Amino acid sequence: MDTDVIVLGGGSAGLQAALTVGRMRLDVLVIDAGEPSNAPAHAIGGLLGAHDVAPLDLLVTGRAQLAELPTVRLLGGEASSVEPDRTVSLADGTSLTARAVVLATGADYEIPVVPGIAELWGTSVIHCPFCHGWEARDSRIGLLSAGEEHAAHLLPMLSRLTADVEVFDAVAGLRAEDGALRAVVLPDGTEVPRDVLFVAAPPAPRDAAFARLGLKRAEPSLVAIDMFGRTSAAGVYAAGDLVSAAPAVAQALATGQRAAVGVTRDLGA
Ligand SMILES: Cc1cc2nc3c(=O)[nH]c(=O)nc-3n(C[C@H](O)[C@H](O)[C@H](O)COP(=O)(O)OP(=O)(O)OC[C@H]3O[C@@H](n4cnc5c(N)ncnc54)[C@H](O)[C@@H]3O)c2cc1C
Repeated sequence: MDTDVIVLGGGSAGLQAALTVGRMRLDVLVIDAGEPSNAPAHAIGGLLGAHDVAPLDLLVTGRAQLAELPTVRLLGGEASSVEPDRTVSLADGTSLTARAVVLATGADYEIPVVPGIAELWGTSVIHCPFCHGWEARDSRIGLLSAGEEHAAHLLPMLSRLTADVEVFDAVAGLRAEDGALRAVVLPDGTEVPRDVLFVAAPPAPRDAAFARLGLKRAEPSLVAIDMFGRTSAAGVYAAGDLVSAAPAVAQALATGQRAAVGVTRDLGA
């Protein structure tokens, strides 16, 4: 074995898992492609003690904390496959084997294909009222409906935040100035002034690298885990957006910790 534990992904979930197993004197290698999903956001809304911290700053602080542990190594790179014997292959051809693997590769949030949305994603165009709703309170909020169920789910929450919510079923584009949303442009060219637009952005697990494990799924796409983060494959654990029905940094930290406790229990002395 090359190491006790390989953690795939160095976002909140992966770094928390590495911190916890590393502090238990297990040797851990974190392999990270360096693209956390929340990178475009200004701050981590709703995270206790760190709600005004920029997402990348949290990870920089976390990596500095891990650098103090002789048990933890961080490697920049992308895993291309994980085999049932816990051999992890990297895109550059390197292969490494561990006694346990923690999957923490996060998700790709699928945003609507509308001109202007990608440029404002994470700042003026957002998906999660728990993350950024407070900062949007009392502003002119738009809701781009992805169907009746989506609108019915979000509208009551947004209406708690402001008296000015407008629901859109079809938009032609967005008008921005200085990197901020100014108006939603309707198909007939009419502009409706808005400060923030909520959209549906379902997270799709980044699971291509471990497809060969054939992991059991909990919901259409989440990886099924038990109370210690164990997946259906022996010695393989999962955390973060891969396992969270309501994705958030707090969930990522909690599930990373949970998987790390599972790894430590299972590997024994
Ligand atoms: C725009 C946006 C804003 C958000 N704002 C908030 C907020 O304000 N508050 C909040 O609580 N939550 C917020 N969230 C949700 C939160 O960001 C996620 O729940 C959290 O980041 C999940 O952590 P994670 O470690 O599972 O995944 P990530 O943080 O996405 O980290 C996964 C890491 O794994 C790496 N990786 C992926 N595949 C591989 C591979 N094959 N090999 C090696 N590395 C790989 C990625 O490059 C990345 O670095 C937001 C999400 C988005 C998209």
